[in-house]
Amino acid sequence: MTFTELSLAPEIERAVREAGYEAPTPIQEGAIPGIIAGRDLIGCAQTGTGKTAAFTLPILHRLRAGARGRLRALILTPTRELALQIGEALRAYGRHLRLDSAVVHGGVGHSPQEEKLRRGVDIVVATPGRLLDHMGRGYVDFRSLEVLVLDEADRMLDMGFIHDVRRIVGALPARRQTLMFSATMPDE
Ligand code: AMP
Repeated sequence: MTFTELSLAPEIERAVREAGYEAPTPIQEGAIPGIIAGRDLIGCAQTGTGKTAAFTLPILHRLRAGARGRLRALILTPTRELALQIGEALRAYGRHLRLDSAVVHGGVGHSPQEEKLRRGVDIVVATPGRLLDHMGRGYVDFRSLEVLVLDEADRMLDMGFIHDVRRIVGALPARRQTLMFSATMPDE
């Protein structure tokens, strides 16, 4: 399969080519068409398989049209490193679009993240604990949320984030697209 066959918006396909990618990886081939079609999805994939692009590309595709500056996609991931990596991917693949994202993680001050959330962003990438902090302080408005991604869901379980994730998911609109990526599929 080629990237052209995935029918991503031209601005996104251009950014993918500029990143030097020649063809989609298997997880991208398997996931992108269904995500573009608006389906919920469980993807079995480890880091290093191209999983980040498998969800960021179709999310950028979906959000490229429509009102900007309202939180429409939330990506939950277990660690600060992964959150920053996903933030970088969104910036690289979205460089020809005008969507804004914020990365929210612990270990740093609240203020710059709050400032960014208050100004309004289209996509938030977050670790669960810090996102709950911001929610508690009233800085996050989920009313326009359309897409939720649970990245490395098995690691979030292992790290004890299940209650935090449940609380966050409980605050989201029920009508949304939900995508889950995990290297393993434990029953929980
Ligand atoms: P990930 O599994 O998302 O951590 O991605 C692993 C690495 O693969 C990253 O450095 C990506 O830039 C790179 N990558 C993602 N998709 C492709 C692709 N289709 N072709 C070549 N490299 C890719």
